Amino acid sequence: MSHVSGIHHVTAYAHDPQENIDFYTGVLGLRLVKQTVLFNNPSKVFRGPTMYHFYYADGTGTPGSVITFKPHHSIQKGEVGRGQATATAFTIPDGSVDYWVDRLDGFDEVSLYPVTERFGRTVIQFQDHDGQPLELITGESDVEPWEEGPVPAEHALRGFHGVTIQPHNPRLTAEVLELMGYQRIDTEPTPQDGDWMRYRVEDGANHGEYIDLYTEPNMHEGSWGYGTVHHVAFRVADDDQQMALRQRLRDAGHRPTSMKDRNYFHSIYFREPNGVNFEIATDPPGFLHDEPVEELGETLMLPPFLRDRREEVEETLADITTP
Ligand code: ZN
Repeated sequence: MSHVSGIHHVTAYAHDPQENIDFYTGVLGLRLVKQTVLFNNPSKVFRGPTMYHFYYADGTGTPGSVITFKPHHSIQKGEVGRGQATATAFTIPDGSVDYWVDRLDGFDEVSLYPVTERFGRTVIQFQDHDGQPLELITGESDVEPWEEGPVPAEHALRGFHGVTIQPHNPRLTAEVLELMGYQRIDTEPTPQDGDWMRYRVEDGANHGEYIDLYTEPNMHEGSWGYGTVHHVAFRVADDDQQMALRQRLRDAGHRPTSMKDRNYFHSIYFREPNGVNFEIATDPPGFLHDEPVEELGETLMLPPFLRDRREEVEETLADITTP
C-alpha cells in the first residue's frame, strides 16, 4: 500500500524578502536552492506585484529539508494558533545544542525560549524576525549538512525533524495521518494541561518523519499571514503513488485537487478536517531540474508560463541580494 515517506516541504508566509533570505541563509545556514515566483496566478491573490517564492534546503534540495517562503510587504501579520501547522523543527546533532543556543542568542531578531525536552530529545524553541515558530531538535538524520554556509558543517541543520500541528480535534487529523501511513508512537503531557501526540511515518525516510499534534484547553485560533505556515507537503516517490493516495483520500471523503505541475514536483492539495492545508508532492523531478547544483538559487527561475514575461515580472519584484 502506497503511503508518504515523511515531509517534503513546509511553506510559510514572510514579510520582507531580503530579511527572509538573510535569516534562513545567514542565521540558520541553509542554502537558498531556488528563487522563483508564486506559480498560482499571483495577481488573483495580490493585485499587482508578483510574489517571490524562495526555497531553502540542504545543498541539493533534498525532499524533507526544504522550507519555502512567500514573502511580500502586502501580507498582514498572521497569528500562530489552533487550526494551523505551527512550529517547523529541524534536526541538529546531539552535541550541537550549546553551539546553537549561543548562536541564536547572538542575533537581535531571534526570540529564543528556554531549552526544553520533548519525547526524550532536547528542543531549542525560537522565532524568526516575523514571529515564525521554529525548533531545533537533537537526533539522527541521513541529510548531509550544507557546508558552504556560515554554520560549521559539524553543527549545520540536517533537514527536518518534523512539524507541530495544533488541531481543534486531534482525532480527525490523526485519521488523515494514519491514512497517509503515520502511526502514533508516543504521547506526553504538556505543562499547560494539554497533550503532545507524536506520529511517525512507517518505513519512512530517516529525516522529516515526525508529526506532533499539540492540544491544550485554551488554544486560541490562528489566522493566516506572515509568521505563519501556509501548508505542509508530504512526499511520495512518484505520480503513481500520488494518484493511489489521492484515490484513498477521496474514498475517505476528502477532496484533494487534481495534480498541479510545480516544476520541481507534482502536487495535489487538500484541507484536512481541522483546517490545516496539506499537500502531497512527488520527489521528482527535483530542484536540479532547471539549474546545475553549483548554481542553485543564484538566478530567478520562472515557470514556463512566465518565461516570455521576465522583464515585466522582474520589474514588480523587490531587489534582493543573495549569498
Ligand atoms: Zn507546497
